[in-house]
Amino acid sequence: MIVLYARVSTEDQARSGYSLPEQLRACRARAAELAPGTPVVEFTDDLSGEILERPGLQAALDLVRQGQVQYFICLHPDRLARNLVHQLLIYDEIRRAGAEIVFVQAAIEDTPEGRLFLSMTGAIAEYEKAKIIERTRRGMIGKVRAGGVPHIIRLYGYKFVKGAKHRPANEVVVPDETESRWVLSMFRWCAEEGLGPQAIAERLTQLGVPTKRGKEAWHHTTVRRILRNPVYATGRLVLGKRDHRGIAVARRLPKEERLKRGIKLTARPKPAGQEWGTIQVQPIVPMDLWQRAQEVLAGFRIGGRAENDPRRRYMLTGLGRCGICRGRLMYLSGRQIVCASRYMRHWVAGAPPSDCTLPAKPREAVEAAVWEQVRSWFQEGLLREALEQELAAMAAAPDQTGMEQELEALEEQIQAKREEQERIGLLFARGLWPADTALPALERIANELKALESRSKELRRRLAEGPPVLEQSPLWHLLNDREWLEQVRATLDHLDYAGRTELVQMIVGRYVMYPTGRKQPPKVEVFPRLQ
Ligand SMILES: [Zn+2]
Repeated sequence: MIVLYARVSTEDQARSGYSLPEQLRACRARAAELAPGTPVVEFTDDLSGEILERPGLQAALDLVRQGQVQYFICLHPDRLARNLVHQLLIYDEIRRAGAEIVFVQAAIEDTPEGRLFLSMTGAIAEYEKAKIIERTRRGMIGKVRAGGVPHIIRLYGYKFVKGAKHRPANEVVVPDETESRWVLSMFRWCAEEGLGPQAIAERLTQLGVPTKRGKEAWHHTTVRRILRNPVYATGRLVLGKRDHRGIAVARRLPKEERLKRGIKLTARPKPAGQEWGTIQVQPIVPMDLWQRAQEVLAGFRIGGRAENDPRRRYMLTGLGRCGICRGRLMYLSGRQIVCASRYMRHWVAGAPPSDCTLPAKPREAVEAAVWEQVRSWFQEGLLREALEQELAAMAAAPDQTGMEQELEALEEQIQAKREEQERIGLLFARGLWPADTALPALERIANELKALESRSKELRRRLAEGPPVLEQSPLWHLLNDREWLEQVRATLDHLDYAGRTELVQMIVGRYVMYPTGRKQPPKVEVFPRLQ
């Protein structure tokens, strides 16, 4: 029996004499020369020689292993494999099974010279492949470092402007008018309505919003990836972060085969420092909104599953404020509650360090402290009083004055940052400040400015809205519902975590956590919800 093997891949298409019919024709001719009349079995693959587990090749080898094959014929060693080691492995296996391997385009004998020839051709095939990869990589790096953008960016919310090759990156990759609006909506739904990736994906699908690939249905992993991506708030887009090699090939393998061999279709992250570079594009989402979304997302991760199930939400998501810096509190890895501004670095590379010193506290302890306050409001009938106090405090508007003061201070800071930006820019333009220190400094200032401006905008909005009104408070209506109050009081001590979470989210507007010693229980102040 004679086995013929031919392989073609996309990169071979341009080479003449390498199509499958051409390869097979050459192999059949050689078979007829070697052993006329012997039965011939043909195997083919249309996969890259990068992978060894090709269905055609494996079937051919299975047959060879049965020991009935006299000749194994293929056009050239690089049809067996791209990689030299793989070529030798296959070569050895065929030979050990008692078959003779014949290359139409290269005379191989089992002699030292033959083996040397085989290694040479293999080495050359490998070298050519590596050269193509390296050339592409260097081309990309060069382009990015020179401030250009390689035409490979597919990021929801942005579009690639064609024919803008020599313009700065932020003019080549620009927010897409429609998509960027949806990005903003996704962040709002998450941060303001508390929706998780699954619920957002469902809403987008219902609204008929097309995905980047033009599909109709949104998947929650796509939504999660968008919500977790800092580029939407910082505009810092790192290119060439992942290694995509081998995916196009693996995608063509049958699914069962991929599962069996544990081959994944996702790109692997590259080691630090091997990225192509960073470009600055226009952010779409205010930093404050982005951060709030992170906090809500963290709340959906109890046990790492069923993210959209309200029964699996954390009790205090979105309610905490830092007693030192007034920043937001967040769940960290589901175990602790921490001040978000201290943990900015987890989210945003190059974020300014915070000088807040609020110690982290175990999640259970903080939840218990807040729950204790809510419980006593009901049991001792103190909720009405607490609500009236909070409203009185609001009406006296210390909050408004506080906001006005903060806004004033912010404006001063923004002004100072702008002057610093101008100064460094001027020195850099005159060649008095080298690029390697001036550019990172400018980038840092730009990020700080963005954060300050978004906070200032938020304050202006809240000041324009004015203080809340008693009759608009949903709690006020509940308090006048005696039946409801009785029911809550009766079930209060029998509620499970989900039940308590629901009640806390309904009743509490915010809680403030103050610093206490490392081993001390947390100290919290809880305020009822006004809006
Ligand atoms: Zn803080």
